[in-house]
Amino acid sequence: MSLIKLSDMLKNAQKNGYAVGYFEAWDTYSFEAVLEAAEEENSPVVLGFGGMTMHQDWLKRYGIAPLGHYGIKIIESSKIPAAFILNEVPKIEHIKSGIGTGFNTVMLDSSYLAFKQNVTITSKVVKLVKPYNIEVQAELGRLPTFGETSDGGLTDPDQAEEFVKKTGVDFLAVSIGNVHLQTNGSFNVDTLRLEKIREKVPVPLVLHGGSGFPNNVVDNVIKAGISLFHYGTAMKKAFLEETVKHLKKIPNKIDYQAFVGCRKATDILMPAKKAIKNIVKRQIKLYGSSNKAKLFKKG
Ligand SMILES: [Zn+2]
Repeated sequence: MSLIKLSDMLKNAQKNGYAVGYFEAWDTYSFEAVLEAAEEENSPVVLGFGGMTMHQDWLKRYGIAPLGHYGIKIIESSKIPAAFILNEVPKIEHIKSGIGTGFNTVMLDSSYLAFKQNVTITSKVVKLVKPYNIEVQAELGRLPTFGETSDGGLTDPDQAEEFVKKTGVDFLAVSIGNVHLQTNGSFNVDTLRLEKIREKVPVPLVLHGGSGFPNNVVDNVIKAGISLFHYGTAMKKAFLEETVKHLKKIPNKIDYQAFVGCRKATDILMPAKKAIKNIVKRQIKLYGSSNKAKLFKKG
């Protein structure tokens, strides 16, 4: 059994001066790519699915439960310490339907709300899932989405303290200059703000928008208190680029019987899976969690 509580994983990370990554999957290929990358790096890892990256019609038809059941089976097939998150779902109903399916961490997308409303809905989520031993992440302040000109709303350290006290969340995602959906370009990271938040907030801090976050600042923010990075966009980009490259190799006239018969359709996705794996392994090294699986006792 390799599922462990995210709080236990992050406690270990804090104690030993590294961070871990949550690498957001959107299908079975990406999910398994993340697990295999973590195995090859012998690293603790956070696996999961994001409510905003799933196809909304699919989500309506099948719901959260199949993802939870699938994910937990895959996690249990491995010895790597892993936590399992249902990330940034738009509705509290999604969290309800994820309970008991395998996820041990949940996050409602509520950072766009005003402080008071965010406190109210996040407290509701905490109350809802606590009896099931599920932990909760929330975001205070808002990350800008790539292309947006404002800073979204940086996290205020005093508000962060109040937010964590009032809601009882286990993890707090912060906005300190990080950006959602950006894969390159410049960032204005406010490390001083992060240090102030760290002083006032007792729970582990999370940084979303990992894809374009500058490599040379990663160490600084880990030292200043970040113990989990959320990462996804660059994986999706690599997946698409690699898929397009291999699709172009298909001749115009396809013998479909031979094509399906020799499994070429799935073969196209294998190089794309490998591209994801390479990215995840690179990030694992950058966050310093390579080889840290050995720090966890076998359960
Ligand atoms: Zn995010």
